[in-house]
Amino acid sequence: MSNASGNASSTVEDRIDKSETAPFDPGDQSPQPGPDSGSPHQTPRWRTLMFRGATRACPACGKRGLFGWKVTIVEDCPRCGLHFERIEGHWIGAIGMNTIFSFFMIMLTLIVGLVSTFPDFPVKELVLFSIAVAIIHPILFQPTAQTLWSAVDMLMRKLEPNEVDWRFVSRKPIRKRQKSTP
Ligand SMILES: [Zn+2]
Repeated sequence: MSNASGNASSTVEDRIDKSETAPFDPGDQSPQPGPDSGSPHQTPRWRTLMFRGATRACPACGKRGLFGWKVTIVEDCPRCGLHFERIEGHWIGAIGMNTIFSFFMIMLTLIVGLVSTFPDFPVKELVLFSIAVAIIHPILFQPTAQTLWSAVDMLMRKLEPNEVDWRFVSRKPIRKRQKSTP
């Protein structure tokens, strides 16, 4: 397991995959702050973060294919250079999230099984099926738990200026709602 201090020496430039191309003309590297922004470095909005997290993409830049055939995420995002294990113990949150979702799925399995077979419950089959869910669900959900937890973490702790390559974390300006003042 790599730790945060081991990663501190590597820069975003080291971490990104050079084959990735910038989403816009490299000549235009000046960030375009939205009307609500004081800083050019803005963490994506929560809806964007949660959508990307729930669909196994990098929450910061939306890069996909972070897993291949494995259930463990790559260390760094090949596009924006985000080091996913942002702090020591980062993945404990993902494990917790996976545990909660897995319990929920087991409960759902039991409830649906009991309701649909009422009043003659096939106890043995229900128990076996629940055990299968308890084993398979945490494995299948693990990748989503990792990206989703990273998104939640990013909601709580915004991206640091030197944490990602900001060219890939572009954020469209927000159109501020006009306050209707009398
Ligand atoms: Zn990324």
